Amino acid sequence: MTSTTQQTQAAEIAVVAPLDKTLSYSIPTTLAMDVRIGSRVRVPLGRRQVVGYVMGWMEPGDTPLKDILEVIDPHPLFHAHHAAFYLRAARYYVCPPGVAVKTALPAGLSALDSKPSVLSDKLYQATTSEEQPQGARQREILNFIRSANQATLSQLRQQFSAPHAVLQRLESLGFVQVEEIERCRDPFAEVAVDDHQAVVLNPAQQQAVNQVEEALEGPASFRSFLLHGVTGSGKTEVYLRAIARTLKLGRQALVLVPEIALTPQLVARFRSWFQEHDVRLAVLHSGLSDGERYDAWRQVARGDIDVVIGARSAVFAPLPDLGLIVVDEEHDGSYKQSEGFRYNARDLALMRGQMDEAVVLLGSATPVLTTYQRALDGHLTHLQLPERTAERKLPQVQLVDLSQHEGESLLSEPLQAALAEALQAGEQTLLLLNRRGYAPFLLCHDCGASLRCPNCDITLTYSQVQSSLRCHYCDFRINPPSSCDHCSGVRLLPEGMGTERLEEEIRQNFPDARVARMDRDTTSRKGAHHRLVGQMMAGEIDVLIGTQMIAKGHDFPAVTLVGVLNADTALNLPDFRSAERVFSLLSQVAGRAGRGDRPGRVMIQTYAADNYALDYVARHDYQGFAELELSQRQALDYPPFGYLVNLVLSGNDENKVHNAAEQLSANLMSSAVAGSMDMAVEVLGPAPCLLPRLRNKHRMQILLKSVQREPLRRQIEQVGRFRSQLPAGVVLTVDVDPVDMF
Ligand code: ADP
Ligand code: ZN
Repeated sequence: MTSTTQQTQAAEIAVVAPLDKTLSYSIPTTLAMDVRIGSRVRVPLGRRQVVGYVMGWMEPGDTPLKDILEVIDPHPLFHAHHAAFYLRAARYYVCPPGVAVKTALPAGLSALDSKPSVLSDKLYQATTSEEQPQGARQREILNFIRSANQATLSQLRQQFSAPHAVLQRLESLGFVQVEEIERCRDPFAEVAVDDHQAVVLNPAQQQAVNQVEEALEGPASFRSFLLHGVTGSGKTEVYLRAIARTLKLGRQALVLVPEIALTPQLVARFRSWFQEHDVRLAVLHSGLSDGERYDAWRQVARGDIDVVIGARSAVFAPLPDLGLIVVDEEHDGSYKQSEGFRYNARDLALMRGQMDEAVVLLGSATPVLTTYQRALDGHLTHLQLPERTAERKLPQVQLVDLSQHEGESLLSEPLQAALAEALQAGEQTLLLLNRRGYAPFLLCHDCGASLRCPNCDITLTYSQVQSSLRCHYCDFRINPPSSCDHCSGVRLLPEGMGTERLEEEIRQNFPDARVARMDRDTTSRKGAHHRLVGQMMAGEIDVLIGTQMIAKGHDFPAVTLVGVLNADTALNLPDFRSAERVFSLLSQVAGRAGRGDRPGRVMIQTYAADNYALDYVARHDYQGFAELELSQRQALDYPPFGYLVNLVLSGNDENKVHNAAEQLSANLMSSAVAGSMDMAVEVLGPAPCLLPRLRNKHRMQILLKSVQREPLRRQIEQVGRFRSQLPAGVVLTVDVDPVDMF
């Protein structure tokens, strides 16, 4: 490829440092053969040496340049068109280019000495010997291997601590045989694959597939689609056909999913289908070690992979000839990275599609309003799957007005009754309570004080199981005190409800029911989420309690009842998107009911039974909700009719942060107002952030708003200048297209 070889003596390098530009370095003749676009290199920066990435070639100017010192990897990590994409993304999100590229690449490639290696593994198989060894640990481990027929060292390490010496012993005693194998890059490979049943597409699916295929088959060009299908309408099948066509045309496909660990069913479905069709698949996920990720990345860059599935960072995967990007559940909040390089993978998928001349397919039952408006405007082609497959009906949704059921337990009488019925009928139930722990806080019943995090100023969540009080932002933990800090009273009682408390109550009220809980606390261990999904599929759980995690994409055919414990809490967040979020979450969780042969029903408990968002959920009326919500957004110039940038100033010293925020706001206002109404930028604030203190930092925010993107861009391009004017100890972060403004 001529475009990636060196043409002049200087290279454009994105250095891993907080600089808002790339730098030029000269290429010494000794390295001339090795420096390519996509190379990771070592370069001098001031008195230090840092990692940089070669992004392009430069004409050497008159000023002498410093030399590149070393090329770190033997092969380039990406191609020229990827470099262009990374740089454009960095500019869009006002992120230093080197930091953006570092974020885009597999972890572990920014330190100077890191060279992840390819790992190997060992496979242990039981021999025919039927005797039992002497030691208890030997017996334990051998029995594990015997019951599974075989096990890899990495599997055994997950089950037993330091099993290696015991395994050596078992081998020398002739109980097991060992074989060196390449370490499995993909833990999902060990998950049983779904038997893929060939389905006949229904007319709506067929029409969607036809339109996407038509776009794929023309001369390569950017086309984007919104696959807007109600829950259970068979969107996955449309993705699969589109991918198949892409591969047939000799190009590659990228599939983005919200969180890989939470989508084992989708991955299994893809895997079985791809195995059948001999497709080379790479699953990029957070469970990979640095070495495995590096390895997979290089395979992708070499063109040895046809399909990449991954969470948001996979949008940067260096597929050489990308023909299709699928963004599943495009409404999901996890596509936005909330720290550092604050990109949104859904939006970058569209940017990349444009640059790579690929087809982009965004799928959801509840697209974000920004996407929906783009479809209404004709920027995205709107494909609709209005019905569930196999003539299944959407569930009946009933609102339970809690003001009519005061004093009942966490479950109102109607929900209790519905649960009893479902249990009686041997059907499964999901209960959504979007709050983990036992209770959101401990309240002193003498003085009314609640226990708060000393770093973040929010209440500490009480967990009975872990006997702890814990901050969900900074992970500060203490044991629950026996008396109040303020008044020494001893009546510290859990207030409000969390999933632990709900579980306790269900166990009390329905002692025969098999109850399980799915939230961050019960799924933090490797494989725990998989296990819960497996148990649900096998019918070993009657009632699954959980946070929003249970709303995500699961396809449990035996679930007929979905109960929502507290629909209100999220409605009251001071965020213009709160109604949209509630609508989306409740529609998604409701969509888990009645996906099998029996019809589903949904009960939503609320104190806000007359809230319009809930009403639209009950009627499965996305369009009605969207029209109303969009008209309100338009009146206030909120997205999608206006654009936002959130500037957050933070630091240890409250006064310094306040003063810096006032100063910045004044600067912004004096440089912002010029231009016609349309080109104006509104400067809102400074005001304390919704979380005014987080991890011990005081935080103020300034929101920039404009009906045009252009003037906003011009403003934030000056951000480097503003940064340089900040007092020491105050940090400015810029969030372009912010998703939540905490
Ligand atoms: P969605 O992602 O739209 O919620 P899924 O893709 O999970 O829906 O599909 C829901 C169920 O319908 C799956 O079990 C899938 O196998 C099945 N399905 C998909 N297409 C068809 C079809 N044309 N006929 C029958 N069943 C189908
Ligand atoms: Zn905290």
